[in-house]
Amino acid sequence: MRIAGLTQDSIVDGPGFRFTVFVQGCTHHCEGCHNPQTHDPAGGREMTTDEIIREMRSNPLTDGLTLSGGEPFDQSEDCLTLALAAKESGLNVWSYSGYLFEQLLADEKKSQLLKELDVLVDGPFVLSQRSLALAWRGSRNQRVIDVPKSLAAGEVVLVPDPVY
Ligand code: SF4
Repeated sequence: MRIAGLTQDSIVDGPGFRFTVFVQGCTHHCEGCHNPQTHDPAGGREMTTDEIIREMRSNPLTDGLTLSGGEPFDQSEDCLTLALAAKESGLNVWSYSGYLFEQLLADEKKSQLLKELDVLVDGPFVLSQRSLALAWRGSRNQRVIDVPKSLAAGEVVLVPDPVY
């Protein structure tokens, strides 16, 4: 798969210490995007999912996997492989996406990845709704969604904001 980079110990992409995969390629082109170098689908570098999984499992302090980007759902099959491996290792799985929960659920391929997530942070970054006070997201329109609860309820259930 094509990636822009990996981080072993992120503390901003979800709770705890996280192994974050920045997927390469994004077609949303949000104004004010913080990672414009991830947009070109031919940019970044190639890594196999096996290589990424080996790195993910090399740090015993990791609490979870975060799929970020770029747009993880545009490489949903490889991201699904990573998500399943993370769960096998007892890690929780978060993903960011410029797509909405409802769009992902309606897509046969993308919904397979969605259904393996613990949390989805959805929607494009909207510069006019940007706030530095928000936990885990950049703009107010984005939702931090509890995926298992949302699938069970048949409607979006949000993760409560953390208490610091
Ligand atoms: S979805 Fe994310 S990576 Fe893609 S343009 Fe928007 S903010 Fe940037």
